[in-house]
Amino acid sequence: MRKIRTYGDPILKQKALPVVEIDQKIIDFGDILIDTMLEHDGAGLAATQIGKKIRMMALSIPFPSKNRPPTGFSPGEMLLIPRMPMVFVNPEILGSSQFMSLKEEGCLSVPKIYGPVSRPVSVVFKAQILDGEIIECECGGLLARAIQHEIDHLDGIVFVDRLSDEELEKIRPELEKIKSGNPGGK
Ligand SMILES: [Zn+2]
Repeated sequence: MRKIRTYGDPILKQKALPVVEIDQKIIDFGDILIDTMLEHDGAGLAATQIGKKIRMMALSIPFPSKNRPPTGFSPGEMLLIPRMPMVFVNPEILGSSQFMSLKEEGCLSVPKIYGPVSRPVSVVFKAQILDGEIIECECGGLLARAIQHEIDHLDGIVFVDRLSDEELEKIRPELEKIKSGNPGGK
């Protein structure tokens, strides 16, 4: 288990580097990512959030509702959610829908703070998994949002960076509090 870096920690503003080869070290780090995510009840965790600047992330997304017919889910949700928790290496978004949705997000690196973020409803997601398989699929729902949120982390973006000025103002005092707990951060 690793300590989760919080808002104000400089590493959360840095761009993570691609993984060149999936070796034993990467596989072991995948276990650490999953364990740390589950330990903190997170739906997702990016490597930078535990201090490693490489393009890896873990996801553990539940199906939104048991009553929804399976045809209502995107191909990505059908394919990936039953296999979660999963680790993704060098994840990327190949395309995004024009339709946007505004939904409340939270983040283990910004504890107890939530705010509405506008994001494309669906994305074409590509990543490698630890056994070497390349995944490419269209993802919707909470999965699409989580993928975008975690890839943002790998690009040095935290969800609060995407809030409207008005929403940011509302949480500024709490954000400053978290930041002040990070002497190295500005
Ligand atoms: Zn996050």
